[in-house]
Amino acid sequence: MALFAFPPDPASLAWRWPHFSPRELACPCRLHCQGAYFHDPAFLDALETLRHEVGPIHIRSGHRCLGHNRDVGGVPHSYHTRQIAADIAVTDASRKAILQSAIKAGFCGFGYGRSFLHVDLGPVRAWTYPGALRLWTRALGYNPMQKPLTPRQGRD
Ligand SMILES: [Zn+2]
Ligand SMILES: [Zn+2]
Repeated sequence: MALFAFPPDPASLAWRWPHFSPRELACPCRLHCQGAYFHDPAFLDALETLRHEVGPIHIRSGHRCLGHNRDVGGVPHSYHTRQIAADIAVTDASRKAILQSAIKAGFCGFGYGRSFLHVDLGPVRAWTYPGALRLWTRALGYNPMQKPLTPRQGRD
């Protein structure tokens, strides 16, 4: 695992995750950084597993530098800044399959948003964003905050 100041050339990392690129997972701001990118093979493996299960997925937010995380209202110690997390776009039709596949793929942290699912490999935990819980409850058929997650063991 390593933090890069800008998206590296995939060839230099022996890139083996065909559906993702350092550029799309790097910080999108060019105000506070040059596109900081945190390389974590385990995270990319989990993303590829998820992609394999559900088909094309759109990453709304990947790594964030501290300044960009502040600008977008992220919590101070967000996994988007400490290493890598991803906000994956969802629709009412796709939320259930994406969540179930993300749990199977080994993600441990889940943030339920109206139009995205936050995933990371931090400790097992879950939270909701305003206005999102009823959408998830309807799509899943249960309240995800009342059903304990049993993904693989988390890591700090
Ligand atoms: Zn940045
Ligand atoms: Zn997130």
